[in-house]
Amino acid sequence: MRCSKIKLISPYIDGELSGEEKDILELHMNECRECAQELEDLRKIRELFTGAETFKAPYGFSTRVAIARALANNAKLILADEPAASLDTGRGTRVMELLKRIAKENRSAVIVVTHDVRMIEGFDHVYGLKDGRIMEEKRNSIQT
Ligand SMILES: [Zn+2]
Repeated sequence: MRCSKIKLISPYIDGELSGEEKDILELHMNECRECAQELEDLRKIRELFTGAETFKAPYGFSTRVAIARALANNAKLILADEPAASLDTGRGTRVMELLKRIAKENRSAVIVVTHDVRMIEGFDHVYGLKDGRIMEEKRNSIQT
């Protein structure tokens, strides 16, 4: 089981914790290898993104970077607009599998918009839209 304080690492790096919360977490990280490792990993990931906006990445790469950011920040809600649109079927499928895995492991909500029906396999709820209206709803069994 993951340490319950691990969710504080990202706010810690972003300077969003109070002085007292920061002190408590720093003491905790002296004892907790998992949190110390998370801090190191997040710092490395963020370092990779420093300056990433200064070049225009190909769309497929941008998609992967966006997913990595969502992972790094433990995002609780991920909105993905055609995340597999510019990818071949194999890569598109892997992106969708990754989004589903994030949803399950991080207990995040992932909302995906796609025109590609091959990509909807395995999502808990699927809504079909036509002219801005919900035309159908399919519920897959929710796995925990
Ligand atoms: Zn910890």
